[in-house]
Amino acid sequence: MDKDIYASVVVDQAHPSIDRHFDYIVPEELMGDYLVGKRVLVPFGISNKAIKAYVLKVSNYTQLPHNRLKSIIKVLDKEPVLSERAIPLIYWMKKKYHCMLIDAINAFIPPGIRKNTRPNRPKMVHLKILDGLDAYMEQVGKRSRYMADILDVLYKNDGDLPLNIISGDTGAPASSFNGLVKRGLIDIYEGQPDIANFSDMHGQKCELPELTVEQKEALDIIRNTIAKGKSNILLHGVTGSGKTEVYMRAVGDIVAKGKQAIILVPEISLTPQTISRFKMRFGNRVAVLHSRLSDGERAFEWKRILHGEVDMVVGVRSAVFAPFKNLGIIIIDEAHDDSYKSEGRPRYHAVDVAKERCNLEESVLVIGTATPSIEQYYDMTKGEYTLVEMKNRVDKRRMPPVEVVDMRDELIKGNRTMFSQALYISIKEVLDRREQAILLLNRRGYAQFVSCRSCGWVAKCKRCDVSLTYHADGRILKCHYCGRRYRYPYVCPNCGSHFIKQFGVGTQRLEEQLSKMFPDVRTVRMDMDTTSTKDAHEKILAAFRRGEYDILLGTQMIAKGLDFPNVTLVGVITADTSLNLPEYKSAEKTFQLVTQVAGRTGRGDRGGKVIVQSYEPNHYAIEYASHHDYEAFYKKEINLREQFLYPPFSNIIKILIIGDVEKDTIELSHRISEWLVKNIDNDIILKNGLISIGANPAPIDKIDNRYRWQVLIKIRPDAMFDGVYHCLVDRCIEEFGNKEQNVIIDFYPVSLL
Ligand code: ADP
Ligand code: ZN
Ligand code: ZN
Repeated sequence: MDKDIYASVVVDQAHPSIDRHFDYIVPEELMGDYLVGKRVLVPFGISNKAIKAYVLKVSNYTQLPHNRLKSIIKVLDKEPVLSERAIPLIYWMKKKYHCMLIDAINAFIPPGIRKNTRPNRPKMVHLKILDGLDAYMEQVGKRSRYMADILDVLYKNDGDLPLNIISGDTGAPASSFNGLVKRGLIDIYEGQPDIANFSDMHGQKCELPELTVEQKEALDIIRNTIAKGKSNILLHGVTGSGKTEVYMRAVGDIVAKGKQAIILVPEISLTPQTISRFKMRFGNRVAVLHSRLSDGERAFEWKRILHGEVDMVVGVRSAVFAPFKNLGIIIIDEAHDDSYKSEGRPRYHAVDVAKERCNLEESVLVIGTATPSIEQYYDMTKGEYTLVEMKNRVDKRRMPPVEVVDMRDELIKGNRTMFSQALYISIKEVLDRREQAILLLNRRGYAQFVSCRSCGWVAKCKRCDVSLTYHADGRILKCHYCGRRYRYPYVCPNCGSHFIKQFGVGTQRLEEQLSKMFPDVRTVRMDMDTTSTKDAHEKILAAFRRGEYDILLGTQMIAKGLDFPNVTLVGVITADTSLNLPEYKSAEKTFQLVTQVAGRTGRGDRGGKVIVQSYEPNHYAIEYASHHDYEAFYKKEINLREQFLYPPFSNIIKILIIGDVEKDTIELSHRISEWLVKNIDNDIILKNGLISIGANPAPIDKIDNRYRWQVLIKIRPDAMFDGVYHCLVDRCIEEFGNKEQNVIIDFYPVSLL
């Protein structure tokens, strides 16, 4: 029976006990079929129930004795749903993220394909008239703001757009679209936008803009790299330096060579503007994958990619798995953004996956951002990326001035409100001029830190250099890394003042104070409370864009990706709230936030102003951000990371324990950490690799009435230690995890909150 062929399959059932290959005989009638990457039906288990499975390998060898082998029942796909090139990446993901094979496979295949949903073409909207549009907009605007908004979005975007992108952007319901169709102003059709609808709409040809000197230099380096083959590039360019234009030129080169491109953007940046910029340039050869697509629509776009009907995809995180056959480049915009990290199964990071995919498929990786993460920049200094810099804005406009206000002075002057005098005056001016402002509360989670309002001193752990967290019960402060407890400091150890306060103000209070000071002001809040329903986010932003409100108040969720021409003031109420999170990345996050906020204003003709309030105005994160000085920030920060052994000078493994009963959750956390400590103590390599370990309440210690504890293991950064610790934690999960589905391991957490 030498001529038998065997298929190694992974069955489509997520269970740890069957997380491996199973070999099946390929029956004679299927031998001519190319099976790798296809789905098949196989008899499984004692009952021989037929279940779905993915073929990952075909060979003429198996370790199993012949009498134990069963045969494949049936092939389900005409063409593979997994490309052969995806398979090494699937194994890499399993190894790196310790996920099940089927979880890794599922990342490659959209739900609509998995469930065999009928693919349907995304609905497109076409603007039928251009002449006299203003008059029409005014006319329909009287009946419904939404209708006018739809027309406005279409007009500004030079071409047809997917319907759900417009409805997301405007918040408009189906009835508004129907209303416009009835009036003969728009068409709705299924299918690909007609390229004719994109060019020349405003009488301007789709001519490529002349590149700036910096863009030319950047592109030259990227082109040289493309010519050489695979390589990684870090494009460090300030906001408005024209990175997107550089991306598009590089993509143009790749496509001209007959290869394909993946362009990743954070969800919030995947706006009609982004889409139409690519559609204008490349027409129908662009697929778009965003999270508002239905399963059927996503399946449709995915099949266009699979069949080679497009040359590129612009999409969010999961588009990194797009089934291109001859990938030339992956571009990741705003590469520092945490939304590239998946918090579901598998817990992958799109930048890491992209790096590995480019490595395997000999493609070029370009990561672009104004504020690289410390790890990314560090990797660059170690030679993992070629650095390309763009230091100036395209239009030569200066970066907006950032005014840092010292809130300690305000206190001395007797001002106990949340608004400094400078911010108060600026808000008043904005309201007088009928412009708009954004106020940011900058509160991540609910962690509370304690600080002196007279001198800005912040209670920190002496061993870990992170802010201590306030616990109302017992008036103690606790370090969330090592668990050390500290007494509540009723008197400031730095200046002797009694003005010690815990921080953590809400947007609601901000709104109250604001309406007391400016009785007529129209404010809208965007925070966890107001955005819990689906699309609430978009609706608030759309209303603000329409000018229904003067001031948008919110948490950092409003900081990025927003471009409001009428906004001339951005205020950060307390920059310190993110500075003093119990997390080693707090300075980095603060730097990114202030830089990003500064990049958002002053894009329109009116210029703009940024006011940052702080009790620690001299903190390096705030100071360097206000001077737009990334390098100085990096130098300072990387030294601190080294001194206190934080990433990239250590790796942190997070074990999150979630439970309904507080006592049980705490007990399980302690059992887990004791088990780990015992095993580490017994092994010389584990012991050498350990920096610290501790079980503590998570900084956000209760979400949805469920208690959260975490065990943090900090280890030395070395592949060998990674290896042994990953094994140890896997064993730990076997020991404690399966019984209670509430132990979550994150080997590469982007946040410790
Ligand atoms: P970034 O992504 O770096 O923040 P963008 O790519 O969004 O910057 O560019 C900012 C603006 O400058 C955009 O409106 C873009 O159309 C315009 N732009 C980019 N490159 C050029 C150029 N070479 N000439 C004229 N305008 C440009
Ligand atoms: Zn500590
Ligand atoms: Zn003090």
